[in-house]
Amino acid sequence: MFQIGGHLSTTRTSKHWIVILGIILRLVSSFACASSASTEQMLSTIQIGNSRIDVTLESGDLTVSHDELLAWVRNAAESVAAYYQRYPVPHVALHIIPSGGRGVYGGRTFGEEDGGSIRIHVGKSTTAAGLKMDWMLTHEMVHLTFPSVPDEHHWIEEGIATYVEPIARVRAKKFDANAMWYEVVRDMHQGLPESGDQGLDHTHSWGRTYWGGAMFCLLADVEIRKQTNNKKGLDDALRGILLAGGDMRHDWPLENALDAGDRATGTTVLRTLYARMKNEPYPVDLPALWQQLGIAQDGDTVRFIDTAPLAAIREGITYGTPGDSPKAASEARPRTIMVGRRASPRPIS
Ligand SMILES: [Zn+2]
Repeated sequence: MFQIGGHLSTTRTSKHWIVILGIILRLVSSFACASSASTEQMLSTIQIGNSRIDVTLESGDLTVSHDELLAWVRNAAESVAAYYQRYPVPHVALHIIPSGGRGVYGGRTFGEEDGGSIRIHVGKSTTAAGLKMDWMLTHEMVHLTFPSVPDEHHWIEEGIATYVEPIARVRAKKFDANAMWYEVVRDMHQGLPESGDQGLDHTHSWGRTYWGGAMFCLLADVEIRKQTNNKKGLDDALRGILLAGGDMRHDWPLENALDAGDRATGTTVLRTLYARMKNEPYPVDLPALWQQLGIAQDGDTVRFIDTAPLAAIREGITYGTPGDSPKAASEARPRTIMVGRRASPRPIS
């Protein structure tokens, strides 16, 4: 984790002053660009609810336009805001790095004093359609929503990002629910314990970290919904953690986060499930779970079976509890408030 000192980052600046500053930055950059080989261009500031995302683009060739890049950032921000009913931190410095190849890769997210910073690579040959299909930027933004926990619990950070990202995109209408469940059913088995497994806190393989963590989230979501007659879900627990101040800027013991989540749902599901999964393999019968949720694989998609015993819970996981998100739509509509250029990269250590 590192910190960035920012002239605009720590204060809430009026739109008027931001526009003036944008003009000044453009003037400065027009002088500086001529002599500077490595430049970073300030594309835009996206305002989403009370949060600001400063989008900068490092020098390099790309197929996609600036507008297409900004639409991609907005889609990811809207997805996270749809799931959490707000954007998680006041400010994000988002650095887009043009790179070789095709697609989006190499995303990294860091907690900062006033929010976070994300660095993410976009391949030169990436198309607008490719950006529309991207999941990685949403995954990185989900990392902002949860406190930093000690290393042995890294599975919960990656598990939440892996589990929430596709659901968040469905809730923001950026991704199809059938495709989402198809991928979840296809991929979740990678989180199952293999021989020699010593539980999530002690088995740091890729599968157990990303998909083992996601499986913890799925099991918690189902159990919270069972215990609350489908009135609450993991989304309520995760919003509760965020509301309690547990975002990426802060280092918390894992137990504090789980307790905040459990308080939000009036259950002890997170603490109970953690106790069962932290030191032991805890095998899960995934085919039986898909059957109960009413999800049947059908070629390269899935069919939903609405007479299945947990079909309503599947709907709750997918779309949230009905009437639960009155603020989401307005919070999720971003405004662009500044376009300008900056001459040199922001110092990063
Ligand atoms: Zn991640």
